[in-house]
Amino acid sequence: MASECNISSNLKEIKKSIESIRQTGLITSEEVILVAVSKTKPVEAVIEAYEAGQRVFGENKVQEAEAKFLDLRTGKKDIELHLIGPLQSNKAKEAIQTFDVIQTLDRSKLVMALSKELKKQDRAVEFYIQVNTGEEPQKAGVLPSGLSDLLKLCKSENLNVTGLMCIPPVDEEPSLHFSFLAKLAKENGIPKLSMGMSSDYELAVRFGATHVRVGSGIFGARNYPT
Ligand SMILES: *Cc1c(COP(=O)(O)O)cnc(C)c1O
Repeated sequence: MASECNISSNLKEIKKSIESIRQTGLITSEEVILVAVSKTKPVEAVIEAYEAGQRVFGENKVQEAEAKFLDLRTGKKDIELHLIGPLQSNKAKEAIQTFDVIQTLDRSKLVMALSKELKKQDRAVEFYIQVNTGEEPQKAGVLPSGLSDLLKLCKSENLNVTGLMCIPPVDEEPSLHFSFLAKLAKENGIPKLSMGMSSDYELAVRFGATHVRVGSGIFGARNYPT
């Protein structure tokens, strides 16, 4: 499909759709930020989106993000970059250098590594905790039962946790997971909710998402899965 690769019009369509849901929904948030997931896509695609007005981007790998964004950001300082993929503790330094928001905080070892790194680097990084709402053994994210302890640790380590993030199991109704994540956020006084991807971002907005992470819906299908 030719239209799949028209980044600018894809962005426009998605924003329009988000806005119309937001205005009619019952529990939608005041503002929904579209995180453009550019993983596997070349820097030219990022520039095209930037020129169409997009400022918030998501990448799932530290090295790929560094390669794509470090140079680019020196001339485009208003880019906001989110890490949406799993982070290894030994990449904490690079992650703090590269990202403005780390959405995938999910264990105490990582909290300690990031906190140590933040003391060395003068960077204001926001953190979301990834919750494994489907309790899938192979999936990253803290189990719902471990959330409150992890939040306590983040607080004592001065990590600025502002959001929760989830990736629902592929074979389950995502709305159950979106409403569950919204409930956890409310119970813990956390304002931001990162949920919804190309296939279900509209549903996520209906359940109160403040951030939706859309990749293929903007940049077209990826050549290889990640
Ligand atoms: C790749 C990815 C997305 C975007 O997926 P699409 O289906 O292409 O929109 C969103 N969130 C995470 C965590 C991802 O890894």
